[in-house]
Amino acid sequence: MNTITQRLEQVRDRIRTAERRFARPPGSVELLAVSKTKPPEAIREAAAAGQRAFGENYLQDATAKIDALADLAITWHFIGPLQSNKTRTVAERFDVVHTIDRLKIARRLSEQRPEHLPPLDCCLQVNVSGESSKSGLTPEAVPALAATISELPRLNLRGLMAIPAPAESFEAQREPFARLRELLESLREHGLELDTLSMGMSADLEAAVAEGSTLVRVGTAIFGHRQY
Ligand SMILES: *Cc1c(COP(=O)(O)O)cnc(C)c1O
Repeated sequence: MNTITQRLEQVRDRIRTAERRFARPPGSVELLAVSKTKPPEAIREAAAAGQRAFGENYLQDATAKIDALADLAITWHFIGPLQSNKTRTVAERFDVVHTIDRLKIARRLSEQRPEHLPPLDCCLQVNVSGESSKSGLTPEAVPALAATISELPRLNLRGLMAIPAPAESFEAQREPFARLRELLESLREHGLELDTLSMGMSADLEAAVAEGSTLVRVGTAIFGHRQY
């Protein structure tokens, strides 16, 4: 059995190899360690091995871990579905949120972000797989929402995020990532200053890096399979 430290090194290797293979600058792809369902000790081990950014989906579970690990210099990303009744906790406890998919949620996060914290970094979640995935905005709805959100005072819109439907072949994996990249490029051409493409997970991070991912969200390959 490999330890979390060893698996983390393997994932870093995969990222470095993909950066080289697809002519991405070294270090241009950030690793978000997705620690949902995993205990605080697992996060402590990853942090001791140099991992700084952690992603969580379930709010109650996440806040308990944030409290238990308050002594660590790590950052917390919320990557789960967002309902209105969760926005205050996310605004108060997290550094980044990846899953904004409507204006109401964005407005609440901006209003509820505490004054002593910097504006909340965020991404819009886009449904780039059509029917097969339910969460996220349609690509057509992204430009208008991005323009509106970029005006909210306590949010800092950084880019786009997607969770494409699983695909077997490398080429099939690349396709939705390419659509997300093109969407980001068109927003930038229209004057929005965006720098983040949150895409790629354990099974498809190489395809995401090939298409310009700046942040891969990796759980299983670091922490092992999840038990719910
Ligand atoms: C669980 C999850 C991941 C990590 O998936 P793995 O396949 O375990 O790497 C990434 N992104 C989101 C949004 C998730 O919910």
